[in-house]
Amino acid sequence: MNKLTTDEILTKDAHLIQSFANLHALKQADARTAIVAAEGAHVTDSEGNRLIDGIGGLWCVNVGHGRREIIDAITEQLNTLDYYSTFYNFTHPAAAELAEKVASLAPAPLNNVYFANSGSVANDTAVRMLHHYNNLRGKPEKKQILSRMGAYHGSTHMAMALTTPGYSTGWGAVEGLVHHLKAPHKYREAPGMSDAEFLAVLEQDMLDAIHRIGADNICAFFAEPIQGAGGVITAPPGYHAAMRRITREHDIMYVADEVVTAWGRLGHMFASEDVYDCVPDIITTAKGLTSGYQPLSATIISDEIYDVISGPDAMFLHGMTYSGHPAAAAAALANIEILESEGIPARVQTTGKLFEGLLRGLEDMDMVGEVRGSHFMMGIEFVRNKDTREEFPADANVGGLVAKEAQKRGLIARALGNILILSPTLIMDDALIREIAATLRESIAKVSADLG
Ligand code: PLP
Repeated sequence: MNKLTTDEILTKDAHLIQSFANLHALKQADARTAIVAAEGAHVTDSEGNRLIDGIGGLWCVNVGHGRREIIDAITEQLNTLDYYSTFYNFTHPAAAELAEKVASLAPAPLNNVYFANSGSVANDTAVRMLHHYNNLRGKPEKKQILSRMGAYHGSTHMAMALTTPGYSTGWGAVEGLVHHLKAPHKYREAPGMSDAEFLAVLEQDMLDAIHRIGADNICAFFAEPIQGAGGVITAPPGYHAAMRRITREHDIMYVADEVVTAWGRLGHMFASEDVYDCVPDIITTAKGLTSGYQPLSATIISDEIYDVISGPDAMFLHGMTYSGHPAAAAAALANIEILESEGIPARVQTTGKLFEGLLRGLEDMDMVGEVRGSHFMMGIEFVRNKDTREEFPADANVGGLVAKEAQKRGLIARALGNILILSPTLIMDDALIREIAATLRESIAKVSADLG
């Protein structure tokens, strides 16, 4: 139970470096919100305000906050085996059971799981594994990677290189290894085109890159099923299956970054195969794997890759102290048990569609250029002129203005420049879903009136 006042928290917080923040602006005490408690679909701030968690922590609290079953499972695990590693010849029941469970839920050929503690490291792990895989196959030059503009794959040095360049402005990222293809962003990249025409452009872009770099030099294509932190960008129908076909034809491994899209958010345990008809070679995932109760990620690889990296002459030189941590594995097992026993992914196929539909209804507002996304992963792009799609200046931060109004009205949403992102818990009833849509409408109307 929190015993600190808001002032006390914020004084201590002066020593905390926040993520993805303007640290200078955060020196203003009222710029920060301290969250002190959470239950179900709501959180409570240090002033006692109860707020709907419209971003599910950080796209991750899928089964809702305060689930006793997960907390008890973590406690019980810590009471039995607090820690042991999965280095060398060691293993333990929680990691073993979870690996089997994840393999059983992932697409059929993906049977081998490496655990780490963040989506970023899951993606770094995929890169290291594929480089090793190609070295073992006698193809040491096959190391380059295709990613996309608009992508977000994490913040470690490698994951940031996979991410769209805009995220590392002023910082720099690993150079010379990653090539960014066009974002599959029809609203901005191809306003006058049909879906089919735009898909053909994207396919050609991929083929051009392969011909330019040479398939013999490319190990992987990284793609989120829906680009999340890039602005909730959904690709035209058939995109992932088409990219899968091209990668297969050129001996390039398809890495689906399902850090956000798995574990029910789009109505299925994994989205790649069930939603997009695309069976990748590797799936990376995190977030909803434990619903955020413990830090845990998984890099799930195909038998084809595993057979090579587990060959007689191979040595797996990769490891993290907390890989498969017992408490994290126990949290994931309890979380998956809830997702399955309560049929949450199937429920999301109805409740998520209601959410998506109500948010799409906001497109009748002048300032709303496009509402996009799917189920409980939605983005709202604000524009200065709806007909011409003229953007607000980047520093207008209209998303931030709307998020501020929403918070005053009891809803946490996330701003990304002139885009607002919603990725709530997956357990909301219809009434709460309608409340979010109504709050957003009021907040957008207020900002629109203020901007004149
Ligand atoms: N991949 C995607 C698609 C993400 O959205 C994120 C985080 O938001 C990551 C990777 C990185 O995960 P983490 O923040 O756990 O390192």
